[in-house]
Amino acid sequence: MTGKEIRQKFLDFFEQKDHTIVKSSSLVPENDPTLLFTNAGMNQFKDTFLGVEKRNYSRAATCQKVVRAGGKHNDLENVGRTARHHTFFEMLGNFSFGDYFKRGVINYAWEFLTEVLGLDKEKLYISVFHKDDEAFNIWKNEIGIPEERISKLGEKENFWSMGDTGPCGPCSEIHIDQGPKIGCGRSDCDPECDCDRFLELWNLVFMQYDRDAEGTLHPLPKPSIDTGMGLERIAAVVQNVTSNFDTDLIRPIIEETSSIAGIRYKDNEKFDISLRVIADHARATTFLISDGVIPANEGRGYVLKRIMRRAMRHGRLIGIKENFFYKICEFVVDFMSDHYLELVDKKNYISKIVKQEESRFKNTLTTGLKITESLIEKYKYDKYIPGKEIFTLYDTYGFPVDLLEDIAEENGFSLDMEGFKKEMSAQQEKAKRAWSGSGDTAVDERFKKLASKFRTEFDGYDKLSLESEIL
Ligand code: ATP
Ligand code: MG
Ligand code: MG
Ligand code: MG
Repeated sequence: MTGKEIRQKFLDFFEQKDHTIVKSSSLVPENDPTLLFTNAGMNQFKDTFLGVEKRNYSRAATCQKVVRAGGKHNDLENVGRTARHHTFFEMLGNFSFGDYFKRGVINYAWEFLTEVLGLDKEKLYISVFHKDDEAFNIWKNEIGIPEERISKLGEKENFWSMGDTGPCGPCSEIHIDQGPKIGCGRSDCDPECDCDRFLELWNLVFMQYDRDAEGTLHPLPKPSIDTGMGLERIAAVVQNVTSNFDTDLIRPIIEETSSIAGIRYKDNEKFDISLRVIADHARATTFLISDGVIPANEGRGYVLKRIMRRAMRHGRLIGIKENFFYKICEFVVDFMSDHYLELVDKKNYISKIVKQEESRFKNTLTTGLKITESLIEKYKYDKYIPGKEIFTLYDTYGFPVDLLEDIAEENGFSLDMEGFKKEMSAQQEKAKRAWSGSGDTAVDERFKKLASKFRTEFDGYDKLSLESEIL
């Protein structure tokens, strides 16, 4: 079954069970400053769970675009290293707003996995919140799961929240045992282990509370249901591969990149990590730009910029010298636009933004990487780079510190970040003194006046041009 078919089967299944199929919302959450990016299918329904917004349906299902690269759910560092984490992924979900509750959702999930997708029941493991006897009993007595395959876990694993505040509740998760050859390889590996063996597939959240800023839980007007299952993970299981990156949803992006680099996937583990990172980051970049984020020095744009520059660096690691990342993003557009039609019209725009960033970053990357290499050589016995060196790399050459952190980690180095911070504040102090020393606030005023006469014009996405009215 293709990834595309699985997505459709999921939506059809819930449509037949009277769910309204709702379109994915944007990756940029509407009216929710508490969230960096949409991190779960339930985000667009937050106010419905809270009882603030009424909808003309009480059941819904979606395939939601999600980015987890910042905030409460942040998988940036996992990408490329685990077989199951992406920054961008598609989350399948069904929702009940005061309609069915635990029994309903558990039965639907079981039916979908075992009857529609035909997964082997013996391989499925369940976890429930340790105080939730009701869910435990439904799994055990009504579905018939043997007790030894149901774990009772604490708040960290089985109490889901979208962020520090907002809707939350105990949850029950479905895992699949991929066998002892996968993951950590320990003989006592169990569903609680964080490795890839017992792969978490689907989280069923029993939405019951609204957490306020003080951390107090207030009961929601109606107990509700929110679920989330990663499409790439379930596709891996159905397609009988042990990594999301080997599914038909992602592998073609890896092939595209390796053909540009002139290498083959699965020849060299180091290159493979880079190929996975690039494939992941190209999806995130494409969808974030399509949803209106542009690379910048703060907020959402900063996270995007970081993702893009990381991908570009991994391109260097696999030997690509010319601009290439924009081509991978173009590929993602063509490859994914059958379901995400909004990408089609934005193809040129996405490509342009990526190309611009790539050209901008090229020289910085070349110089910075050379210096980084020499630092790794210079400090190879200490495995420690002093703050002064980090500062020079950052201040003189503009090399991003987070990239240096990546490289340091890969080489088993630690960084003197305290020393770096000290250099930074010393520099800021110096700059302040130099400015106040000029003693000319009038210059400052004149500058402000002049600046107010400039207006910023949006120039067909191409460049921001300043147009002067006085020149
Ligand atoms: P994990 O423990 O594997 O990090 P999670 O518990 O953080 O997953 P949930 O917040 O419960 O994940 O999200 C619901 C579902 O979304 C998961 O069961 C999984 O199928 C999928 N999922 C979560 N994070 C990712 C990710 N980074 N990449 C791909 N799929 C993911
Ligand atoms: Mg996680
Ligand atoms: Mg988990
Ligand atoms: Mg989970």
